[in-house]
Amino acid sequence: MDETRSKRSWLGRLGVVLYRRALIILFERPPGTQAMITIGIDIGATKTAIATLEADGALRAFRKVPSAKMLSEKGNAVDSLRLFIDDYVSMAGYERESIRGIGIGVPAVLDSYTQEIVSCPNLPGLDRLPLEAMLSPKIDLPVFVENDVNLIALGEHSFGRGRGINDLACVYVGSGLGCGLILNGQLYPGADGAAAELGHAIYEPNGRLCSCGARGCYEMYCSGKALTFDAPGILGDSEMKAMLSDESYGPWALAEKVIEAAKAGNPNANGALTKSFFILGLAITNLVNILNPRLVILGGGIVGGWPEGLRTVRETVNTTARSVARDRLIIDTPQLGETAGLYGAARLVEIKTR
Ligand SMILES: [Zn+2]
Repeated sequence: MDETRSKRSWLGRLGVVLYRRALIILFERPPGTQAMITIGIDIGATKTAIATLEADGALRAFRKVPSAKMLSEKGNAVDSLRLFIDDYVSMAGYERESIRGIGIGVPAVLDSYTQEIVSCPNLPGLDRLPLEAMLSPKIDLPVFVENDVNLIALGEHSFGRGRGINDLACVYVGSGLGCGLILNGQLYPGADGAAAELGHAIYEPNGRLCSCGARGCYEMYCSGKALTFDAPGILGDSEMKAMLSDESYGPWALAEKVIEAAKAGNPNANGALTKSFFILGLAITNLVNILNPRLVILGGGIVGGWPEGLRTVRETVNTTARSVARDRLIIDTPQLGETAGLYGAARLVEIKTR
């Protein structure tokens, strides 16, 4: 009993010392100055989000705009981004001297050898652009660019579901199938920045042609794009015809229709989704057997639309992965939602500038 009391009073004293130290640090800051902040930008195929990570670990001043319009405002992507950032900083009221740098997520691979953004079919203005090198001198701040799902992994690792977990994979199923890895507590981009391209591992040799040029990639069997192949057998002829003739509908709209049909009880749509998530489970089994992560975070629009997919993936991995790698494996959903990439982008700056 005495020992417990003595431990408690020791902890109490430590608490008081830490509290006083925190107050001293707070008031040591000269009046009129701001703590250092980092800005995160997440450029998606349709929308671009921007926010600031402040010294207390909170994300503030969130803003979202259409990507295509933002990137073409000044005729080219670099000058348009500079304008977008300048407007944001003045609108949010941040002092320029307090900004440590800018992290940017893009829906593409970043070639770490040439520093160019490669394969960015949805945003042609960014394709083959050495964005870091071109934007940094124009805004006079450090700029770091990284693949969007890599930054989601970094965000979830630093602030979300993956806090305190050293080895994790983020698997995102949207229009495509993306992945990001944290290994040994660090983002793993690979030798050339092209690691974790799980969507382009091969599932079916000589199968469906993928946008990467290969045939039979997992992305063509478990993603929004993949569901468009199932749509003709699920939606009625007239609905298919109407959707295909309207250019404003992309593959995403067809995938959404398949999910809607499954929710309404259509057995073919249910079968297509179950098969898609079974194949995703096989892809994750391969990942688990190769890398042995503690946690797989499964997110993205298709998972959000069809949460039953999480159960299919868990069951598949539990019956196909090696037991030593799966017994303590956690497969779960993300915590940070659409802000994960922004947290990751801002965190990337903190890591690169420390
Ligand atoms: Zn591919």
